[in-house]
Amino acid sequence: MSQTDPIEAAVLQLIAATGLDPDDDGLVETPQRVAALWRTEFLAGYSMDPREILAEHVLDEERLDSVLVTDLSFHSMCPHHLLPVRGRAHVAYIPEGRLLGLGKIARLVSCFTLRLTLQERATAAIAEALLEHLPARGAGCVLEAEHLCLALPGDRHSASRVLTSAFVGEMRERPDLRSRLLAAAERAR
Ligand code: ZN
Repeated sequence: MSQTDPIEAAVLQLIAATGLDPDDDGLVETPQRVAALWRTEFLAGYSMDPREILAEHVLDEERLDSVLVTDLSFHSMCPHHLLPVRGRAHVAYIPEGRLLGLGKIARLVSCFTLRLTLQERATAAIAEALLEHLPARGAGCVLEAEHLCLALPGDRHSASRVLTSAFVGEMRERPDLRSRLLAAAERAR
């Protein structure tokens, strides 16, 4: 066990600050567990480079009009409350001759959601990365997710699901593609 891991040390301090005993049965390994989870999940996107993810494309498909990938599950962490967010991503792009492997789209979603980020920001970043780094003629992203912080009793809202969308480039002139993405998000509810 490394007491020097700063996340572990911070979690230990948080437990002690609440007045609980860090040596209690259920808490004794909590600092290591939390630190490992934050590094491998909630902060993992910071070490992913969207340029690198989008560099390996499949070339030479000039005639394809659009690619839509729906229902990619993702999770994230709300930066305001440090509470989990869980949902599905729906992504589309209008190729400029370059196609992506489908796994790359899932990886791009992870790149921008495995961060302490606002859902709105992640949505725009995914669409913009496709436009800039693939590159594509147009791109869109719809994220629909459940925010635990909105579902807590003290912060009562009628709905805890949030839907965000971003459409860039030629996708702005494609209401057909936009509505297909939004319909996928509605179906997933
Ligand atoms: Zn929140």
